[in-house]
This record gives sequence, structure tokens and C-alpha cells, in this order.
Amino acid sequence: MLLELRGVSSYYGQIQALKEVSLHVNAGEIVALIGANGAGKTTLLNTISGLLQPREGTIWFAGRNISRLSPAQIVSLGISHVPEHRQIFGTMTVYDNLLLGAYHRYRRDGKQAVLRDMEWVFEIFPVLRERREQLAGTMSGGEQQMLAVARGLMARPRLMLLDEPSLGLAPLIVRELFRVVAELREEGQTILLVEQNARAALRLADRGYVLENGRIALEGTAESLLHNSDVQMAYLGGRRTAVSP
Ligand code: ATP
Repeated sequence: MLLELRGVSSYYGQIQALKEVSLHVNAGEIVALIGANGAGKTTLLNTISGLLQPREGTIWFAGRNISRLSPAQIVSLGISHVPEHRQIFGTMTVYDNLLLGAYHRYRRDGKQAVLRDMEWVFEIFPVLRERREQLAGTMSGGEQQMLAVARGLMARPRLMLLDEPSLGLAPLIVRELFRVVAELREEGQTILLVEQNARAALRLADRGYVLENGRIALEGTAESLLHNSDVQMAYLGGRRTAVSP
């Protein structure tokens, strides 16, 4: 197991946002985390990446308890978090944004390794090569999302946390983004993927978890979740709530 959460609870002041969450991600897997607005998906990713400390429970990464480490320490252990709403540096070029993604390993791995990875990232996202000198803030939403994922990859993470990468993007761009995630999976990249687009996420993932009100309500192979009638009803466009394809 690369990542394991055991009975993790997180709070905002008195409000409990995560309730005894246990889940794991094996190396090489894509695991989808689905759930309605406010279920706690972002909170879960923030807790793993150290932005929020769990009040109870433990988080293990590569055999190490990371529950009390700082975000910087967690990044340097190999967890890269691509947050919701991108948070790229709009007044910097695409190239500089990508370099920043490799900031913590620049000294350790050297410039050549970082530039090689930049080439690798440009192969995955050709549009970023074309736009490398452009100010990131002047790109379209879809391009900025590609940049956010690409910047995450520049850290050469052992585990990538992707928070709602498809949020607010046009269907064609969403398809392109999921194509990239599928390609990363072929390369063996381990990913914990948070998505409201449950169908697309489960089609891509090996396994999945359903989060409801801060608790894991269901878990299983992506295939079994796709065929689960409760999941279909609540998250796959069943009659009660329709989620876009
Ligand atoms: P969304 O898809 O809307 O982002 P989510 O599943 O990611 O939803 P979270 O953002 O993790 O859900 O929120 C979980 C719960 O914690 C919600 O009830 C939310 O109102 C609450 N919450 C989130 N951030 C804060 C905060 N900074 N302070 C107080 N409560 C918060």
C-alpha cells in the first residue's frame, strides 16, 4: 500500500468534516473519490497533503506516518496536490510555473533532470510547449487546468492528488483531460482522483470510494460501483440527482 488512512477525522473548529475515514491507494492504481458537494472530498485531500491536520487517526505514506508532517515535508516525500481552482501563478509564464513545480527537487536532482521532465510534460501536453512563454493567466480555463496538472507532474510525485480537474471545463476539454489521466495511468502514475463527474472518473479508475457527509459510505472496484444501483441513482444520472456525463 502506498497510501493508507486509518480512522481519520478532521475538523474546522467544532465542525467535523471527516468522520473516521479509512481508505488506501496501492502503487500504480487510480482511485476515484466521488461524492456530492460538501461531502468532504476537498477536505480529505487537504488532510492528506498536510494543509489540514487530522484530529484523530493516522495517515501512512510509503510506510511512514505523515499525519503530523508539514505540507512541505509531505511534498518532498512525493505527494503532489493539484488543488481545485488551479491556483497557478497568472503573472508568470507557463515555463516558470512548470519550473516552480520542480522547485523542491531542483537542488537534489539537478537542472538537467528537471529539463528532461519538462520535455516529458510537453509531450503529454503539447499545447503547453506552444504556450511556454505566455503568461499563464492569459490562457483559457482548460489550458490553465492542463498547466496545473503539468506543474504537479513536474514534482515527479509518487502519488498525485487531483481535485476536480474537470470543474468548469467544456466537454471537449474534459475529454482531453481524462485522456491525459489515462495516459498517466499507462505510465504507472498513482492517482487519487476527486471528481463530481462520477461516471468518467469510475470508467478510468481501478477502485473507488463514495464519501457522504464526511464518511465512506461505499467502496469497491470501479466496475462494481458503476453497476451499483445506489451509486447510479445518486451519482450517475439516476432519477434523484442528475450529474453531467
Ligand atoms: P465541493 O465539491 O463542493 O468542494 P467537497 O466534497 O470537496 O465539496 P469540502 O469542501 O471538503 O467538500 O467540505 C466539507 C464540509 O466542510 C462542508 O460542510 C463545508 O461546508 C465544510 N468546510 C469546508 N471548508 C471549510 C472551512 N474552511 N471552514 C469551515 N467549514 C468548512
